[in-house]
Amino acid sequence: MSTPSDRAHASRGGLNAVYDRARAAEVRLVRVAYCDNANLIRAKAAPLDALEGVLRYGVGFTVAQQALPLMGDTVLPASGLSPVGEVWLVPDAGTFTVLPYSQGAAMMLGDFRTAAGDPWAHDPRGCLRRAVEAAAADGFQVQAAFEPEFYLLRSGPAGEEPVDRTNFAMTIAHDAAHDVLRDLVDTLNVMGLEVALVHPESGPGQFELSIRHAGALAAADRHVLLREGVRGVAMRHGLIASFAPKPFADAAGSGCHLHLSAWRDDKNLFYDERDGLHLSPVAYAWIAGVLAHLPALCALAAPSVNSYDRLRPHTWAGAFVCYGLENREAEIRVITPRRGPASSNIEVKTCDGSANPYLALAGVIAAGLDGVRRGLAPGDPVETDPASLSDEERRRRGIAALPATLAEAADALERDTVIQEILGAPLTRSYLAVRRGEWDAMREMGPAAVARRHLFVY
Ligand code: MG
Repeated sequence: MSTPSDRAHASRGGLNAVYDRARAAEVRLVRVAYCDNANLIRAKAAPLDALEGVLRYGVGFTVAQQALPLMGDTVLPASGLSPVGEVWLVPDAGTFTVLPYSQGAAMMLGDFRTAAGDPWAHDPRGCLRRAVEAAAADGFQVQAAFEPEFYLLRSGPAGEEPVDRTNFAMTIAHDAAHDVLRDLVDTLNVMGLEVALVHPESGPGQFELSIRHAGALAAADRHVLLREGVRGVAMRHGLIASFAPKPFADAAGSGCHLHLSAWRDDKNLFYDERDGLHLSPVAYAWIAGVLAHLPALCALAAPSVNSYDRLRPHTWAGAFVCYGLENREAEIRVITPRRGPASSNIEVKTCDGSANPYLALAGVIAAGLDGVRRGLAPGDPVETDPASLSDEERRRRGIAALPATLAEAADALERDTVIQEILGAPLTRSYLAVRRGEWDAMREMGPAAVARRHLFVY
């Protein structure tokens, strides 16, 4: 299954096309970017004159880039990586995107290569490529979209202030933020991201934005570009945009819901009109796989110390291991296919803005494939807020709580061979070192100090 946006993505490919587009848009600097284990987006920029060599050979980085936690650029030795050694980030021609908020700038996302030209084992984008191939080998093409929530804040003498003080979807907030929202939507559409909806969320100054789904790799690329666009446009308006999971203790956390479906021959395999939830046996097995691997997936989808201040019951976050039709307190929300079979999909609610989208999606694909291969069943859907059930009732129905801390999630990943297999041993090691390094550095901090650490990097 390829959507029009996928085809646009592919047809933009080719090095000559990159030059033509760069010249036509009067681009002066092309950023070659990647998203690291800590989910920080980093890039080096090449002037147009130097672009040819960059397109052919890539941009050099130290291997230690995948050993850095979000707190700062200090190498964590447990990663197995050191300041010795070089890899090259080779830009993917199909990702060339002009950045309208930074005049004369464009961005390309890259794949890391070794000196021999092989894929680098620590590359998150390479990991998602492997997951896409594994799905294809089983006859599935995954369509996905990340649906992020974020805060818009104004820096003032008393610190960061939200741009509004309203509740969910209130029109006052639409007006208060209209200029920046209009520029945001225009910009993201020029970047090719196909905005579907935008609305004010529960928290003061909090918003949510959804874009059209795409093939798995393109979906993760689009999420990186979306974050770039939102933060860039906010900056132009004198604002800070933050995708941190829980910026303020007394306000709603921000999720980054992952919507996903599996396709074959232009047909959505998740849809079955005869089923009460309009789900196929493949969809149920996929759900069961995700639920079975959820503790380990938390280390990829809710991977920061700040994530676990968000994952609480009664907060719309999906804090329990269960699924249900349009159940916004279940970890997996089954979406009503209101627009027909193509719109049938599941929403993984645990995912947040501190997750590297390539790794989170690769993990969910590996878990879903495992559910299908083993023919797992997810049990009955939950038709109530799971937090409102008694402990005994939840036990009886097999509804477990998610890991309570990043340390618990990291331990679960260390026990999960299916999720480790898609990461591969080197990436599992560097990834766990980075996230455990963050836990070690912040475990004794209070939630407010933890929130500050996450607010400005995500
Ligand atoms: Mg929301």
